[in-house]
Amino acid sequence: MERHEHYIDGEWVAGSGDDDFESRNPANGEVLGTFPRGTEADVEDAVAAARDAAEEWRALSYPDRAEYLWDVYQQLRERTDELGELVTRECGKEISEGRADVVEAYHMVEWAAGNGRHPHGDVVPSEIAAKDAYMRRKPRGVVGCITPWNFPVAIPFWHMAVALVEGNTVVWKPAEQTPKCGHAVAELLVESGIPDGVFNMVQGFGDAGAAVVDSDVETVLFTGSAEVGQGIAESIGGTPGKLAACEMGGKNAVLITDEADLDLAVPAAVLSSFKTTGQRCVSSERLIVHTDVYDEFKERFVAAAEKVSVGDPLDEDTFMGPLVEPRHREKVLEYNDLAREEGVNVLVDRADLDDEEIPDGHRDGHWIGPFVYETEYDPELRCIHEEVFGPHVALIEYEGGIERGVELQNATEYGLAGSIVSEDYRQINYYRDHAELGLAYGNLPCIGAEVQLPFGGVKKSGNGYPSARAVIEAVTERTAWTLNNSSDIEMAQGLSAEVTVEDD
Ligand code: NAD
Repeated sequence: MERHEHYIDGEWVAGSGDDDFESRNPANGEVLGTFPRGTEADVEDAVAAARDAAEEWRALSYPDRAEYLWDVYQQLRERTDELGELVTRECGKEISEGRADVVEAYHMVEWAAGNGRHPHGDVVPSEIAAKDAYMRRKPRGVVGCITPWNFPVAIPFWHMAVALVEGNTVVWKPAEQTPKCGHAVAELLVESGIPDGVFNMVQGFGDAGAAVVDSDVETVLFTGSAEVGQGIAESIGGTPGKLAACEMGGKNAVLITDEADLDLAVPAAVLSSFKTTGQRCVSSERLIVHTDVYDEFKERFVAAAEKVSVGDPLDEDTFMGPLVEPRHREKVLEYNDLAREEGVNVLVDRADLDDEEIPDGHRDGHWIGPFVYETEYDPELRCIHEEVFGPHVALIEYEGGIERGVELQNATEYGLAGSIVSEDYRQINYYRDHAELGLAYGNLPCIGAEVQLPFGGVKKSGNGYPSARAVIEAVTERTAWTLNNSSDIEMAQGLSAEVTVEDD
């Protein structure tokens, strides 16, 4: 079995640790590779290399830095099918989603590299006609990137493509569930010829991630769970000169009003709840449905949940692959049990698949099917407030106007993604203005972001940084630069520029 390595200071290295870990295919248990478990010392070496490389890298022009990323872009486009299959084999997403992960990655790289030729700052008017005033940007320095497993190629590029083009050097810790995708991403950057030390990767677990957070990087970009992200935000909190940009989970909802077209609402809800087996940060675990359409929606959604195909993610006909790891399957099953204990009415329970549903040769997969229930809204119910990150879906019936529907949408500490299904533009506009969300959709599923839009949540879901334009704020510093073109000094706000002297 191939043993992989870290990439530090322009070299593939074994690292200082004694422990290795394996990556396994969640659909059948196949071992995909062995990886070194990174230590604090490995992270220190990587940060030191990134620090040493920073000055030369920031001295290059934006288009010159972007050239390396254009090379990565070409590779991602040419190798989409091969890399998409790797994504599917390592994280279990069905194959169209595996490929979409790579497509999203090259869209992000294209955006960041293209942005290397766009204006980077503002020309700002001054009160004094003889002064030229500008807002200019500078790279912050070394950026630490910590990424989750569920978009193992796309999310690393959300972080790194912009950070690099903006002139920062990078230390990246991929997710422990998807180290082989991490290795493939690192190879793309290495093959682009990027200078030694500019890009570094340390494989490993949460302790290696924590070492990145504790190191002297200027910015930490984190995408992952609220639990870990809040810990990072707190630990960096008031550290002078250090910034944490954290994007976390959600308890997302689709709101289906009395004016909804159910032919659109049902597929929107199915896609939102079951794509990626519910393991998207934007997946919907709540369907808030108006009483006038509740019975018909319930019947049609339940029929769909009974039928969605669960199976080999490499098969083009599969809708849902397995969950990522046994530990995660345990967690989802515990939430299904919790919902029962909390007294909900279970409508569909395909958590334990029948033997004939499991594809041949895939007994060791972490299989699960949809779990759907109905309940009245109750602020005490944990199952409708906590992120499960699986195909675990609550139907919540409501009466009254759009205000009540949006009140229920907002009845969570999270604020990542949501959608409204309605044919009434007044309802849609009310939702647009009052739903507490970073990503909101009308007459669509609540999944399916595009890289040129901001991506991020409000409330407990994040501070809205790690993607496209928004990342630039997290990886650059702004300077207000003013130049006087006159030989006299004239001050703003009517401040006197006269230097008066005392009489002898
Ligand atoms: P996770 O928080 O368990 O892990 C994410 C990364 O953080 C991994 O690389 C992990 O090794 C590292 N990590 C773990 N403990 C750490 C610590 N103490 N200090 C520093 N790093 C640490 O999340 P996951 O299970 O990989 O991903 C699923 C979660 O990510 C879900 O909650 C999902 O909603 C969220 N997510 C959010 C977005 C978004 O953009 N908002 C996108 C994808 C996933």
